Amino acid sequence: MKQKAVVIGAGIGGMAAAIRLAVKGYETHLFEKNSETGGKIGELRLDDCRFDTGPSLFTLPGLVDDLFVLAGEDPRQHFSYIPLESSCRYFWDDGTLLNAWTDRNRFAGEAERVTGEPRANVLGFLDECAELYDLTAGIFIFSPFYQFDNFRKPESLNVARNFRKLNAFSTMHGVISRRFRSPGLIQLFDRYATYNGSSPYRAPGTLNVIAHLEHNMGAFFPAGGMRDIIEKLEQLAIRCGVNIQKGVEVLSVTKEGNLVTGIETAGGFMPARVVVSDVDVIPFYRKLMKEEKPARRQEKQERSTSALIFYWSMNRRFGELDLHNIFFSSDYPGEFRALRRGEVTGDPTVYVFASSRVVPGDAPEGKDNWFVMINVPYDRGQDWNSIVRSARKNIIEKIGRRLGCPVEEYISAEHILDPRDIERLTASHRGALYGSSSNSRFAAFRRHPNVRRKYENLWFVGGSVHPGGGIPLCLASAKIACDMIPSAG
Ligand SMILES: Cc1cc2nc3c(=O)[nH]c(=O)nc-3n(C[C@H](O)[C@H](O)[C@H](O)COP(=O)(O)OP(=O)(O)OC[C@H]3O[C@@H](n4cnc5c(N)ncnc54)[C@H](O)[C@@H]3O)c2cc1C
Repeated sequence: MKQKAVVIGAGIGGMAAAIRLAVKGYETHLFEKNSETGGKIGELRLDDCRFDTGPSLFTLPGLVDDLFVLAGEDPRQHFSYIPLESSCRYFWDDGTLLNAWTDRNRFAGEAERVTGEPRANVLGFLDECAELYDLTAGIFIFSPFYQFDNFRKPESLNVARNFRKLNAFSTMHGVISRRFRSPGLIQLFDRYATYNGSSPYRAPGTLNVIAHLEHNMGAFFPAGGMRDIIEKLEQLAIRCGVNIQKGVEVLSVTKEGNLVTGIETAGGFMPARVVVSDVDVIPFYRKLMKEEKPARRQEKQERSTSALIFYWSMNRRFGELDLHNIFFSSDYPGEFRALRRGEVTGDPTVYVFASSRVVPGDAPEGKDNWFVMINVPYDRGQDWNSIVRSARKNIIEKIGRRLGCPVEEYISAEHILDPRDIERLTASHRGALYGSSSNSRFAAFRRHPNVRRKYENLWFVGGSVHPGGGIPLCLASAKIACDMIPSAG
């Protein structure tokens, strides 16, 4: 009889782990409490429009392809994505507009034309980010870097030799503001801190590595929208023999000494040789393991930011907008100071994503599907109804001023998601998008590992554990964990 593996939670990390375990020969059962898989990678249909409800930026697509290859399939037969010509269109209140072309030379030329920043500075900074990635990815992203053996690898020695280049003792903003004179360009590169829910004024300069992904490696978009990533992986999991149980919540994990023995659902007990959790580690310890101490230890780490999202079906097409658009705050430090206090500024940076630019069927002709998001603090019991009301007004005024039109008049249907909804739907502690924040140079060291010595056969994947949140890192977490799990005997 095949050995059993159980994966709890069908977010991208859990889905990837289930595929990897099935390929390793386990009889794999994937439990998802919601009626659909995908976790934060959700979908919404509103007024003839389709919306991706969660992630919209897609980098390192090869990590998705790897799962098809691992299962002996050609990824292009099942999942397709396109490289984007521009990773984002940036709007400032003073009328400035800048397209972040994914061709780095074209972007550097555009940056010089629009901001006056010499193109050589831009290219030099992007080279620096590439060097950071080469130096750190093998250690910090694609391996269990908290393990002692990791520090004996040649890559670690290389990191130690080049420690100064990590900029670990500066903040992202500190490094960027030394490289550039243009306030706009500084703000543009500062923004990458928000890709893992952190602040550029507090996160270590090492995180400037994030800019490398879009600017040197490219930005992509799935031909069928972000939700397609999950749907195609779910089909792959089924072809690999994974038994996916939707709408079934795992209530507890059973254990004996230093082994976990299985899981309990409303339907009863299922024994397992291997258990992998894709659940946020805090509710996982508190509710499923009934262990308060590790939950509290994790809680001590500052959570990442959350999001407030308006999904607007617009009864007009806006030619001014690209797929990804940013309307920058005129007071960026003030925006992050407010987030730190648990508040939302009156002039937030607004992100507008219109998937219909790549997936025409997502909005009927003459209409637009706007996903409008601002960064908000994780839930600390704020009065969200009042925050949503004033943010909605401020956002409508901000975009309206910049595009010169009465935005509210064009909204024909609306759905809203705030941090409380994110926690309710995905069990993410306090609605944080990326687990703990990286607002400290020690954050990477304190993130929960993919395995703990206490239990021999319990593994952790997903955005709340090493190496962190975001689709690529969750996929990396599944690889790191499953590479350590022995094949089924
Ligand atoms: C609005 C938003 C925008 C984002 N933007 C981006 C972006 O542009 N690019 C990017 O790369 N990332 C982005 N992210 C982050 C990214 O979506 C996440 O890091 C990633 O999808 C998290 O995957 P995960 O594996 O941690 O699982 P999650 O998506 O957190 O899913 C966990 C799953 O576990 C299930 N579960 C929990 N408890 C149980 C239980 N007891 N029993 C059974 N099932 C359970 C939940 O229902 C859920 O389905 C964004 C996230 C959000 C919400």
